[in-house]
Amino acid sequence: AVEVHDVHKWYGAHRVLDGVQLTVRPGEVTVILGPSGSGKSTLLRVINHLERPEIGYVSVNGELIGVKRSGDRLKELSERAILAQRSRIGFVFQNFNLFPHLTVLDNVAAAPVATRRLAKPAALELARELLGRVGLADKAGAYPRQLSGGQQQRVAIARALALRPGIILFDEPTSALDPELVGEVLSVIKDLATSGTTLVIVTHEIGFAREVADRIVFIDDGRIVEQGPPAQVLDKPQHERTRDFLSKVL
Ligand code: ATP
Ligand code: MG
Repeated sequence: AVEVHDVHKWYGAHRVLDGVQLTVRPGEVTVILGPSGSGKSTLLRVINHLERPEIGYVSVNGELIGVKRSGDRLKELSERAILAQRSRIGFVFQNFNLFPHLTVLDNVAAAPVATRRLAKPAALELARELLGRVGLADKAGAYPRQLSGGQQQRVAIARALALRPGIILFDEPTSALDPELVGEVLSVIKDLATSGTTLVIVTHEIGFAREVADRIVFIDDGRIVEQGPPAQVLDKPQHERTRDFLSKVL
């Protein structure tokens, strides 16, 4: 499980996360909705320890990342523990972030080798298997620039899977794609969702959210305004701000 405990994050004087409390249970799919600038990416980055909260902490499977307040003392994890923790969390970005100088196969195999989880031959075998899973077995030898955006994003998903993460975070995985390429990426994410992978997905694709989410979290101005199953948050939103947001995106 991922637990976000009362996380506050400031950039200078600007408070971006304001007491966020969130639990993601194993096997659950959580979709985060919210207006631009509401803190969605920051929340994912805090979960992955790319950002440090000023107050609060995150725990992943009982292990802490971030800072925990115990009395007045702040306890921090070592850099090594943070890296170990991060290697158990997959992150898929809006702009794919593939290594341009590596083939598709090597992009997927790189992390297990770099972290010494697997020897090169085993990593390449795993990479082939994962490329098959995202429908790109025939692109193993291609370079990222030779692929469509949808294909690149599917490679990025295979790459995230290569470390066998306990949870995968997606930050608007389809928002950089041409409309006709969105479906192929969402369908790969849907497969992951139905196979029981724990997912946290920031997206504006409401139909997709309704289909895959166990829980929808609506965030505005750094706070979770409401959360619940799709039928509740999408069809019977309790808060004016949620209704207002949904009326704009639906
Ligand atoms: P979008 O839907 O546009 O991606 P978001 O909900 O992901 O928005 P964040 O990227 O989390 O929003 O940003 C939240 C707020 O924090 C914004 O006002 C943004 O300008 C600010 N912010 C984000 N990163 C930084 C940074 N590194 N330095 C200063 N301010 C930042
Ligand atoms: Mg964002």
